[in-house]
Amino acid sequence: MHVARNAHEFVHRGVELVLIDPGKFWYSGLATGMLGGMYEPALNQIDAQRLIECAGGTFIADTAVGLDREKKLLCLASGATLRYALLSLNIGSEVALPRMNGQDHAALPAAFECGPRIWSVKPIANLWRLRQQLEQRFQPAPKTASPHQIVVAGGGATGCEIALNIDALARKCGARIRLSLISRSARLISRQPRGAAKALAACLRQRGIELVAGSALQKIDADRLLAGGQSYRFDVLVLATGLKPARVIADMNLAAARGGIDEESDERSGMKVEPTLRWTADSAIFGAGDCIDFAGRELPKLGVFGVRQAPVLLHNLLAALDGLPLQDYEPQKNYLAILNLGCGDGLATWGPFYWRGRASLWWKDRIDRRFLARYQNG
Ligand SMILES: Cc1cc2nc3c(=O)[nH]c(=O)nc-3n(C[C@H](O)[C@H](O)[C@H](O)COP(=O)(O)OP(=O)(O)OC[C@H]3O[C@@H](n4cnc5c(N)ncnc54)[C@H](O)[C@@H]3O)c2cc1C
Repeated sequence: MHVARNAHEFVHRGVELVLIDPGKFWYSGLATGMLGGMYEPALNQIDAQRLIECAGGTFIADTAVGLDREKKLLCLASGATLRYALLSLNIGSEVALPRMNGQDHAALPAAFECGPRIWSVKPIANLWRLRQQLEQRFQPAPKTASPHQIVVAGGGATGCEIALNIDALARKCGARIRLSLISRSARLISRQPRGAAKALAACLRQRGIELVAGSALQKIDADRLLAGGQSYRFDVLVLATGLKPARVIADMNLAAARGGIDEESDERSGMKVEPTLRWTADSAIFGAGDCIDFAGRELPKLGVFGVRQAPVLLHNLLAALDGLPLQDYEPQKNYLAILNLGCGDGLATWGPFYWRGRASLWWKDRIDRRFLARYQNG
């Protein structure tokens, strides 16, 4: 989005900047709040076509599916091909399913992509579709009807936010639910301070959400899953088991040497870039965000990293055109993360510090709205 918004910089140089994306861009920062009914979907989207066209660039509504590096051609799902001088891949991530005993992942994607029972948290548009489905399910029902069984898999920040915001939506609709959060690790949000993880676990329990920690997913069937040897029936299952680089990176033969998919974890590797965000194997290809492996280091798959990469990416694309030296991106050591707890409170963490309260959510709301406004208003 940052590069698209600065398309005029390319136009001044007599270069056409083309943005290829299948549709509107869904921002993740407000996505769990949207699921919980706090935000409407329009607030959470950026019109990428309008953004780039206003800055003098070109938009193509399509999906990149392949690459011919020798001919410098990008292949699109429509069958069209596009010649490039420089290519920047910023195609994000998808949900990484944990390795499950004997279950063939290849059979799963179509089934778990977007409902009606099994949902993955990416693409973000899924969370809007899920909210619509839940609002229908949560229509008033006779008192004798059994509660809706909802399971969220994944004890990271996303899984916890999803569980808390589904609970918020159910409360708004007056629906009875039984909600379980299943986490492979014994500790929630394992990258964040221990105190924050405890506060989060307490918040989940206080809201009546069953926390099943230290339980690895073993099998997923149509309406039942096995985790830690226990069977759980579900009406709705949401998979928030971590993110991995988008599959198309491997399809384009750009994935780092691990060979595509890690046998243990199903964590597919991304394209390995130098500190300049240029692909290590081809000086015409750059990348940023969740689809890269940054100089062999593991960066969290978080938008706050992509946002800081964006100005470096823009600078380096222009410098590559001008034949000037490239800049290095230096990942931030600490970063602010604020979870929307779905009750008007946020849980903010920064390095070893954390804070739960209304002020945290107010702060998150302000940061996200300001970020979005920059791209929604041109
Ligand atoms: C529910 C949820 C909440 C989150 N909340 C936060 C948060 O609060 N803060 C935070 O820092 N991070 C958060 N994250 C993580 C954050 O979403 C990602 O780290 C961030 O979106 C990565 O940015 P990106 O630009 O790499 O990819 P994305 O934001 O996923 O953007 C990728 C873009 O590429 C397009 N695309 C995909 N494939 C193709 C293709 N083949 N051809 C053309 N276009 C393609 C997509 O349509 C999309 O527009 C959250 C993630 C989830 C799932």
